[in-house]
Amino acid sequence: MRTVPRKYHLRFLISKKVIFLLVLLILSSCKKRQLTTPTVQMDIEPQFWIRVLLLDDVKACTLKTASPFSIINDQTNSQTQNTNVRFNKSNVPISLELTEGEITIAGQTFAYDSLIIFPNDPYIFNLNGNDYRGKLKLIVDPDGTSFDVINMVPPEPYLAGVVGAEMPGYWEPEALKAQAIAARTYCFYVKKRFGTNRNWDMKQTEAHQVYRGLAAESAQIWYAVNETKGQVITCKQPDGTEDIFPAYYSSTCGGHTENSENVFGDSFVPLIGVPCPYCQDVAKPKYFFWPMIQFDETDITIRLRERYSQLKQLGKIVNITAVDQTDYGNFSRLTKIKLHGSTGKNDFLRAEDFRLAIDPTGRKLRSTICQIVKLSDKWAFFSGRGWGHGVGMCQCGAQGLARDGKNAKQILSYYYPRSKILKMSY
Ligand SMILES: [Zn+2]
Repeated sequence: MRTVPRKYHLRFLISKKVIFLLVLLILSSCKKRQLTTPTVQMDIEPQFWIRVLLLDDVKACTLKTASPFSIINDQTNSQTQNTNVRFNKSNVPISLELTEGEITIAGQTFAYDSLIIFPNDPYIFNLNGNDYRGKLKLIVDPDGTSFDVINMVPPEPYLAGVVGAEMPGYWEPEALKAQAIAARTYCFYVKKRFGTNRNWDMKQTEAHQVYRGLAAESAQIWYAVNETKGQVITCKQPDGTEDIFPAYYSSTCGGHTENSENVFGDSFVPLIGVPCPYCQDVAKPKYFFWPMIQFDETDITIRLRERYSQLKQLGKIVNITAVDQTDYGNFSRLTKIKLHGSTGKNDFLRAEDFRLAIDPTGRKLRSTICQIVKLSDKWAFFSGRGWGHGVGMCQCGAQGLARDGKNAKQILSYYYPRSKILKMSY
């Protein structure tokens, strides 16, 4: 049996001790950094809070808070805090579930249709393993069988959770700032346009913009958010006033951005297509170009009919033709698709709607810059380039422009021509 010489043994012990201390130091600094980043704007006026739908139609979830929290009955808007339901234990998993149509929190039942969980400073909570800032709202669905979970968060903490999810934190500061302004504008537009009709403003997915809460935050991300605090982009509206517009953006335009009219059907002046020779240098080739993807003819019929019930009258979809496209020279983006049915009836879809009906994740059929061909009982999409709908700012292009020395204002006026930057006063 080999024995370790004493001096090596001692060195081994020392190095183990040093490693242990280093690990402790790293862990404590991580924890400290997270907890000392304050949750700002908690006293902001109610109309500026962003309501993010975190969970939709669930029966249970798990909550953990970094501090004690109160439960507020939101039904009467009385905002009366019930001191009997103040939870003083922090960092303990608490089960939130629906029992016979009523919300139960750690075994206590609340006969409220809507309630708010309000953690104390630092206003951080963990829902199903993910950390968020602000408050949490639970709303029981009208049929009493499930509930929705909404994060109520002030605008700047919301944006920190978006910018860091939408762009890598190590990208150029000016690209991150442009992203913060575009995301702020888009969010307030959606809130203004649709917020009054529903209990939430934004989804946390690509359907709106990706939001990952604290996991997305870093010093660079907070710098971009703070440096642009309150800034939004505006344009002249049809009634002549200057106001915000849906500042769409997408990952990689593929070489040219697209008119919003061809994709979303709206026609704000800044949402016109512009050439973008910048994203190709930033996006990796495997992301700039995408490989051929095939879908079964039957699957395409099923998916389209699931999303658009009016297509049922077409029977089986037997032919797909591109009837409109925007020609950019050596490539073009499909904008309108004609669907031919086995019943002899036809219908049309915007190409972007067609794409997301067939591939809701958008990760395989990544854009409508492609060609379509029938191969036996499959449809193949090939010569694909770009990722996303291509309207508004091209995120990889913004990084390319920032690398070339352009600032956030220049990046935004490139991708949203004739827009202005204005500062909202919170
Ligand atoms: Zn681009």
